[in-house]
Amino acid sequence: MILIKGGKLAQKIPCTGSEVDTGRICESPVDILIANGEIAEISCEGVEGTVFRTALKSCQENRPPDRNRPPDKSCQENRPPDNFDTSVTVIDATGMIVAPGLVDMHVHFRDPGFEHKEDILTGAAAAAAGGVTTCCCMPNTSPVADCEKVIDRIKEKTKYALANVLPIAAVTVGQKGEKLTDFESLKKAGVVALSDDGMPIVNDEIMRRALLEASANDMLIISHCEEEEPMVARDIRLAVKPGTKVHIAHVSTAEAVETTRQAKAAGVKVTAEAAPHHFSLTREAVQTKGTNAKMSPP
Ligand SMILES: [Zn+2]
Repeated sequence: MILIKGGKLAQKIPCTGSEVDTGRICESPVDILIANGEIAEISCEGVEGTVFRTALKSCQENRPPDRNRPPDKSCQENRPPDNFDTSVTVIDATGMIVAPGLVDMHVHFRDPGFEHKEDILTGAAAAAAGGVTTCCCMPNTSPVADCEKVIDRIKEKTKYALANVLPIAAVTVGQKGEKLTDFESLKKAGVVALSDDGMPIVNDEIMRRALLEASANDMLIISHCEEEEPMVARDIRLAVKPGTKVHIAHVSTAEAVETTRQAKAAGVKVTAEAAPHHFSLTREAVQTKGTNAKMSPP
């Protein structure tokens, strides 16, 4: 079992364990007990007795429903079964925030091809250190992740990563914006979305067909809108008819936010994201950090 001690909860939630009947809301700091990979108890009164209660509950739940068989003696005696592992690893979370694992659906691990910048293992380790337990990696690698073979290669390496790494495949072969990739086989290979991120899909007809094909395969398209407002409007317009889920990557203008907001209100399956670069870096940063402080779209 794992005991996360003294952390601040990311949001207020009802206490469990002995306080559950009181309807008390857990105010930080709290102790959280994890048993068998699940949250067993959250307590703002400390976990005195928690390990015992968890063990007992587990014992009672696991008791076979066999009338002829005598119940586990330990349950009757209100003590954990003899073989129950009551050892606890304690994590001191004083001064820290405790939250469910975060998901980052837009990362560039540059692997394969640009491992000198980042690779799947270092990227996943950095993610885990920041509380991100699942991340989706973009396909602008070398070779581009546009076929089963490259996806398999990525997935093989993700087995050793400290966070879950889910691949996103390219919309067009080589991210050239000309010929669609095989969405069906990519889905079977385990990709979670499609994107030509880094490269906008300029051709309207290609984008229209991509959204149609994605809808047929129930897949999400993440769009890189370099010429932001017109492209966001176009993607939303083209996604309406097939009912495709479309996500606008790294939105950086108020107009694009407004267009997305209106489309959502109208029932279009569109979502959008903002990137930290856009609200943490300024014109001044470019003067000292050069092009490292820039990204596309600007
Ligand atoms: Zn990107």
